[in-house]
Amino acid sequence: MPAVTVDDLSVLPKVPAPVAAGGTVPRARPVVQVETAAHGLEGEGFPVRRAFTGVDLADLDPFVHLDQIGEIDYGPGEPKGTPWHPHRGFETVTYMMDGVLRHEDSTGGGGVIRDGGTQWMTAGKGILHIETPPEDVVAAGGVFHGLQLWVNLASKDKWLDPRYQDLTPDAVALLSSDDGGALVRLIAGDLGDVRGPGTTHSPMSMIHATIAPGARLVLPWPQDFNALVYVLAGNALVGAEQRPLETGQIAVHGPGDLLQVDAAQQQARAGHPLELLVLGGRPLREPVAWMGPFVMNTKAEIAQAFDDFEAGKLGQIPPEYETPDADLEPTTDSPLD
Ligand code: MN
Repeated sequence: MPAVTVDDLSVLPKVPAPVAAGGTVPRARPVVQVETAAHGLEGEGFPVRRAFTGVDLADLDPFVHLDQIGEIDYGPGEPKGTPWHPHRGFETVTYMMDGVLRHEDSTGGGGVIRDGGTQWMTAGKGILHIETPPEDVVAAGGVFHGLQLWVNLASKDKWLDPRYQDLTPDAVALLSSDDGGALVRLIAGDLGDVRGPGTTHSPMSMIHATIAPGARLVLPWPQDFNALVYVLAGNALVGAEQRPLETGQIAVHGPGDLLQVDAAQQQARAGHPLELLVLGGRPLREPVAWMGPFVMNTKAEIAQAFDDFEAGKLGQIPPEYETPDADLEPTTDSPLD
């Protein structure tokens, strides 16, 4: 996959060794739950894996939702996106490993996401946006593989002005594992002195790692972060207990000082490395009221969001997009719309 790759990992900084508080031996965080993503359709009908299927919101906190987009090989004319739709109260983080998505929003933000780039959109008090493949990509078809993560905002941040961060592929911070068998792409968060490019409202980390068959990745992980390991592609053995995890499965971890993942020697796609998403953050521990495109603290705030959207207070579609049959009704059965 053409997310950011590096020919010679030996030139990269190494992932720092985990350290335990009080000088004791660092403990691997145990796997406490494994779940398998449900398949769904998003937007105008593109296939996704609902990566957080079966995991309690309390264990996901500060994250609320994750879709793995594809991986799918489209024929000509088949690539799909979303229509214009609103959001309030959280952030969408869209990372594209293969394929191209164009993004535009009602504040004038936007850009093209491709080749390991990330678009980090803070919806805050309200925004409208569209996420769609460019016309030439629709015409040509091709492989699409990406993800969209929803990061919750604390109640004090839900009413911030919208913000748009275009994290280009060359901005991704790169490290290698100690044995050189894993490439670690740090999109947000810190590993030692290395910091990912994403600016976040609460402390969190987002990592895409590629691990060669048989190699091991050990990551120091803050004790006050939750810890989620999701397999984008391949076969993993997670934790000191070597719990098997395959494409579309997530492992929720308990307390400890480090995360340990081995890429299985035998991969389902022979010769391919393990592709992993590692997420963690400091939980907000606030009530979550979530309906459709809005993530707030109370049901009253959700009702207000729908009212404000109907009243046009979440923004306007740019004039060049206005058509007589423009349909802006937010749906409640589909998290992206
Ligand atoms: Mn959206």
